[in-house]
Amino acid sequence: MISKSQLESEFLLVREKIFPRWDKDKVWSILFGNFTGSPGEEGCCVTESKVVHVAPFTAEWPREKRQALIIHEICHAVVGPGHAKKFLERMRKAAETAERHGLHNTAKHVLEDVVMYEQTPKTNAAEVYDLVQDWLIERPDLTASQIENALVRTYGLTNEQVRVRYPRILQVTEDVKSLYLNKNR
Ligand SMILES: [Zn+2]
Repeated sequence: MISKSQLESEFLLVREKIFPRWDKDKVWSILFGNFTGSPGEEGCCVTESKVVHVAPFTAEWPREKRQALIIHEICHAVVGPGHAKKFLERMRKAAETAERHGLHNTAKHVLEDVVMYEQTPKTNAAEVYDLVQDWLIERPDLTASQIENALVRTYGLTNEQVRVRYPRILQVTEDVKSLYLNKNR
């Protein structure tokens, strides 16, 4: 468990070592929490207020894992939202820099994050809805939000990405449930 000021020192260290040419005026800061994400969300980067937010539960994480999260969020500050090619290239570069500074485990966590996004299967929506139907036939008690979280884990996406890419989850869930309930009545 680390304190607010320890978190701030970690942020300063990452900025100085990994992103020495970013935020030269030192206007960015870091905070525990204070962001409107879904419950499992680890962090976010708000360009308007120039604040990196990390979830309070990350205070319990090993330092290297938290540093990797800070690097992830700063990469968003540098290249913008999304986890496409440009973002992943910046992450790889940050991992190399971390390695050069002897932050071996931090670099390892960053690369694991990159690989997770690279390996996210490019699944089309119809396949995802089929999968959701299969899950519901097995477990008709599943709620739409449990399904959303399961898709987050299955595809390595954020909750928001799941909602944007597969907007019909709620509808599919309700359809399968009503079918199932009618059949068993
Ligand atoms: Zn991200």
